[in-house]
Amino acid sequence: MSVIDFPKNTVLTFSEEEELFRESVREFCQRHIAPNWVEVDKRSEQNPMDIPVDIIKKMADQGLFCIPCSEEYGGQGGSYTMATIAMEEIAYADPSVALAVYALLNTGWPFALELFGTEEACQEIIPEVAAGRAFFGIASTEPQGGSDVAGLKTRAEKKGDVYILNGEKTFISGVGEVQKLEWGGGWFTLARTGGEGHKGLSAFALLARKNGELSDGWDPTIYEDIGRHGLTTGGFRLTDFEVDSKYLIGEENKGFYHVMEGFNLARIVVAAATIGASRWLLEQAVEWFRTRKLFGRNISSFQGVSFKFADMYARWEASRYFVYRASRLADKIYIEKDPSYKPLDLNVPVALAKNYGPETCVDLAEEVMKWYGAYAYTKEAPIFRAWLGPFSYVIGAEGAQNIMRLIIARDIIGRDYLK
Ligand SMILES: Cc1cc2nc3c(=O)[nH]c(=O)nc-3n(C[C@H](O)[C@H](O)[C@H](O)COP(=O)(O)OP(=O)(O)OC[C@H]3O[C@@H](n4cnc5c(N)ncnc54)[C@H](O)[C@@H]3O)c2cc1C
Repeated sequence: MSVIDFPKNTVLTFSEEEELFRESVREFCQRHIAPNWVEVDKRSEQNPMDIPVDIIKKMADQGLFCIPCSEEYGGQGGSYTMATIAMEEIAYADPSVALAVYALLNTGWPFALELFGTEEACQEIIPEVAAGRAFFGIASTEPQGGSDVAGLKTRAEKKGDVYILNGEKTFISGVGEVQKLEWGGGWFTLARTGGEGHKGLSAFALLARKNGELSDGWDPTIYEDIGRHGLTTGGFRLTDFEVDSKYLIGEENKGFYHVMEGFNLARIVVAAATIGASRWLLEQAVEWFRTRKLFGRNISSFQGVSFKFADMYARWEASRYFVYRASRLADKIYIEKDPSYKPLDLNVPVALAKNYGPETCVDLAEEVMKWYGAYAYTKEAPIFRAWLGPFSYVIGAEGAQNIMRLIIARDIIGRDYLK
């Protein structure tokens, strides 16, 4: 009989250096982001291309992008846990999570590029992203469905030193940013270079715009999202789009494995953003409980309210534990390069964090709105913005929730028993 053992673990404590880092990031975010996030969300709701370029530049100057990337590429040479701390603090200051999502994509995916990409591509792209002049995210989703990554249809044909890409990507974050930022940018993407299934896919750094010049064969659309408006979502068609072979990431036909490692890294910081937004929501609740009186008592004296709060608080602490357990493990694998751990060890810890963090945040936002009563249903109260933004991660951004459950069930029960 198999034994379900407690996974390899690390304790949730922070070093003095990490505490100082958190303090400085929080101080920056409270000064430059917290007073502006509602305005950013409102402005970009009216016009998605109203991108907060000035705040992005300040965040870059504070070193909030490419945190675990090497200093030789303009990164911070930090740990993955430091990146996780930063994303939690950014989302605490902007619970719509738009700016945290900008920062986390521009941390997880440049780091994945550094792990597998060519020296030339890293030298060219990462410094621009770190400086806030370029965006670099992930473009895997296609119109036929995002969850079935192995079934994607975009094709890449090799012709001499270039690959010619044809296909379509949908629901991609950053389509506006690559057009608006000074240098441009693009995505870690996948295209089919071989046969059917996951073994026929290769990964590329696809630059839609570089040095301020749009690339030929890239035809974008911008969507009107319901939340996290400070970051654009869109789609694009690729028509005979040329990618130089220096932008091939890793080996040909091994792209699926590289992108899965990238997803594991990105999902940790996704979950970190949602625990930051949840912290903001918990504080909104406490503030309200201490002032709102009904029937001559604070509403938190009703156990129907305070017990639910206690349950939500417990879920938040559990989410936080999942997030930092995963980031510590990522440090062991990718920063310390400890041979006793391997990339696949991250699957379950990351899926737990990505599954639990966003769901806790969205459930909490709904509860806080109910505790606030009718006022929460007006646009004057900002809470709904902290509900709709994190909801993107329950809907499916960086992987649908059921896919997280599938990963957990597959790895714990065994792949052969899920067929
Ligand atoms: C705001 C936002 C931003 C996004 N940004 C990006 C981005 O930057 N880059 C990118 O590549 N993609 C991005 N996405 C797309 C995201 O990755 C997809 O939404 C996700 O992969 C799910 O794909 P789908 O939406 O096509 O849903 P589908 O894959 O069609 O799934 C539909 C439903 O079926 C369920 N389902 C699917 N397969 C299974 C299964 N095997 N078992 C049980 N249930 C299953 C899912 O849980 C889901 O509820 C973004 C999405 C959003 C909402």
